[in-house]
Amino acid sequence: MNKENRRDFLKKTGLVGIGSFINPFSVFSENQRKFNKFQQNSYLIKNATILSMDDEIGDLASADILIKDGKIAKLGNQIEIPPGTETINAEGGILIPGLIDCHWHLWTSLLRSMAGDSAEEGYFKMTARFSRLYTPEDMELAANYAIAEAIYSGITCISDYNHNARSPEFVKASFDAMTNMGIRGHVSYGTYRDMPGSTPTDFKGINELKQLINLNSKYKDISLGLGSRSANYQNIEKDWERARELGLQITIHASSNESQKDQIASLFRKNLLAEDVNIIHGNAITPDEVKMVENTGASLTMTPYSEMRIGYGLPKINELYESKINCCVGIDTTALTGNAHLLDSLKLLQNLANANAKNEFYLHPKEVLKMATINGAKNLGIDKETGSITPGKSADLVLLKKSDINFSTGNKPYHLAIEAALPENMKLVMAKGKILKYDEQLTSIDTNNLIEQAKNRFAEMEKEIK
Ligand SMILES: [Zn+2]
Repeated sequence: MNKENRRDFLKKTGLVGIGSFINPFSVFSENQRKFNKFQQNSYLIKNATILSMDDEIGDLASADILIKDGKIAKLGNQIEIPPGTETINAEGGILIPGLIDCHWHLWTSLLRSMAGDSAEEGYFKMTARFSRLYTPEDMELAANYAIAEAIYSGITCISDYNHNARSPEFVKASFDAMTNMGIRGHVSYGTYRDMPGSTPTDFKGINELKQLINLNSKYKDISLGLGSRSANYQNIEKDWERARELGLQITIHASSNESQKDQIASLFRKNLLAEDVNIIHGNAITPDEVKMVENTGASLTMTPYSEMRIGYGLPKINELYESKINCCVGIDTTALTGNAHLLDSLKLLQNLANANAKNEFYLHPKEVLKMATINGAKNLGIDKETGSITPGKSADLVLLKKSDINFSTGNKPYHLAIEAALPENMKLVMAKGKILKYDEQLTSIDTNNLIEQAKNRFAEMEKEIK
């Protein structure tokens, strides 16, 4: 958005002048002050191309959407505007559901692009070394830092696999970060890097957290799950049974590469796979295993950039897309991926699928967008609440405005959203009806302060490690 457009946008939305009383020494950021006044209960987004990702609604050209009390109230044209509604002009823009990331280790965000160039410096050993230095406060800082980037990149729901779970406090940090940053999510209580294999799963801690979230309405949009150890862990059956008694969903890394072949089949033989399981990676999944997963209703999450970067091989996108498996995507870790541009992971999957099929028309961008919206919501059991632009669902939305050099011409909205869009083009990101990003700025936090804190803590830890 250029300056003129921006002024226009602000004028139309009544924001002109709000930033003019800012004290530069205030502990509040200019953003917070400016946008506090913009956190209405009712918005009308006007004249967007709406890609609802709801089969019954389909796509709407130049339509309006009314948001009320955190929910999508109406879609269409000539919507009667309730008093006190803020109107947002989205002329020519593309509105998609907020993106859902189905696998991320948020705590590794301070270690951005730190997977190095030797066995000692590689992803697993590097993260293990740093993991020991983290405190619960560092866990929350890292989660905030990851979520801020997620929001900037259009992600409004995250499944965090916390594998630096040294105590319930370390896992609670993810809950607090998600809640304070205004997104919804799922947190898997995992292990930690240097945990002895004989240490039992911390069901006492899991129970404590379960109680905490049941008793606190502020955590109502976050659920707790079990981050399972690998398929060959000897107590896996007992652990999963116990998790299921507590109503926890289960996330497991399985058949990630050739050396982990047969892990999905092993889970199937033990009768463990079901709809409440999120299998991560599956780069070495076989055709038989695809059928097993199909028949049990488990979801499978690909994290294409981290899988390729670490040498797990290519995602099995063609086999998975052609199956009935609920396919999802995730960032996994910015220690490997560098950034959290989830739409780019979708583009990579689309391009890889077409390349494998040697067919320009093999995978439509709508099919990959499903993976990061409605499929993600199904995976996490929240498809009645989010995952599509449907009246009654939570207002979790991303508006791509066609005003930037890389995102201006063209009229094929799915292709533009997947192939052209960058996080900078996401001019508005809304979660639960609150605007979390507006005109390229995060509204709910002091971004510069967060960056400083993250940089400083990383620098300290790096000194401690030497
Ligand atoms: Zn992972």
